[in-house]
Amino acid sequence: MTATPATRAPLGIDDLPIREELRGKSPYGAPQLDVPVRLNTNENPYPLPEPLVERIAERVREAARHLNRYPDRDAVELRTELARYLTRTTGYEVSAAQVWAANGSNEVIQQLLQTFAGPGRTAIGFEPSYSMHGLISRGTGTGWISGPRREDFTLDTAAASAAIAEHRPHVVFITSPNNPTGTAVDRATVEALYEAAQAARPSLVVVDEAYVEFSHRESLLSLLDGRPHLVVSRTMSKAFGAAGLRLGYLAAHPAVVDAVQLVRLPYHLSAVTQATALAALEHTDTLLGYVDRLKTERDRLVAELRGMGFEVTESDANFVQFGRFEDAHEAWRRILDQGVLVRDNGVPGRLRVTAGTPEENDAFLAAVREVKSLVGDGPTPPKEQSA
Ligand code: PMP
Repeated sequence: MTATPATRAPLGIDDLPIREELRGKSPYGAPQLDVPVRLNTNENPYPLPEPLVERIAERVREAARHLNRYPDRDAVELRTELARYLTRTTGYEVSAAQVWAANGSNEVIQQLLQTFAGPGRTAIGFEPSYSMHGLISRGTGTGWISGPRREDFTLDTAAASAAIAEHRPHVVFITSPNNPTGTAVDRATVEALYEAAQAARPSLVVVDEAYVEFSHRESLLSLLDGRPHLVVSRTMSKAFGAAGLRLGYLAAHPAVVDAVQLVRLPYHLSAVTQATALAALEHTDTLLGYVDRLKTERDRLVAELRGMGFEVTESDANFVQFGRFEDAHEAWRRILDQGVLVRDNGVPGRLRVTAGTPEENDAFLAAVREVKSLVGDGPTPPKEQSA
């Protein structure tokens, strides 16, 4: 069938009968530019080791023999192995019935919002924080509330509790370590916010631990004990170096796992995904070895940036927030001119760099030094915030 002139006429999103709340909005997305050093999406810079690549091929070959059938809808073997990983690395015993997996922790978050929030309900996060919490809220028809954070980007328990009491959200997001700032919270903060959330509604409290393997602090997983409305979400995108796999998971009371079944698409996790994730979990020790290297590199970035006179936010993640810049976007562009892509998350005066390999980090540090000499006197506190 040939296209009629009408179907070929220029058409924008807003010419379509889309939902009102999506009008004029842009999709999430860091620029995927083809530059030598890409340190903008908090990926793990180390490719999977060859023995693991072989093991994935083996497992996927076996799975391919059964692709005429739907996959295990409940992903029991994978959830069992994820539970084993959590138990082993945190010392807190988790069962498969407490674990749920989906295509990236973004999908986990979407399923939680579809189940516990949605039209007529609200969710809160303490910003700046992971922007997808707000965007997935919007996508699920959930009202988004931007909660407060201190000027140094730490979480103010009293102010956050007050915001929960005021807005009575149905879902509370606590991101620890937080993206893009790198800051983590302690147990007492989560305990207090959980209490505030239960007093207000009760609401579901989601601790997003996407970066926890890089933290100086322990996981908050053991807080699940006696807290049926608490969820800890995790991902294989960062510590496992498997962002391309798309595998996220949560740990919570088994009733929460049962509840998300109400909204998950049947067979949402392909047999290929399950096979690949299982192979990666067999190589946990090697992969966690890379995490140790990245923690060392993260600490080096913090020290070197501070040595150059930048203001650097304490980081518990595989990235570092630094500034201050009079014009962060201009600084971002100048660093890009040196062949290094970092991230401008829109936090005034700040940029974020992901810890890469030692060579990539050297390239980044050289680029920042160069930019500093181009601008003359280096990092400049914005006038209104100079301290
Ligand atoms: N949570 C946080 C805090 C993140 O930064 C990210 C990824 N950037 C995610 C969740 C989502 O990760 P994924 O969907 O790859 O598991």
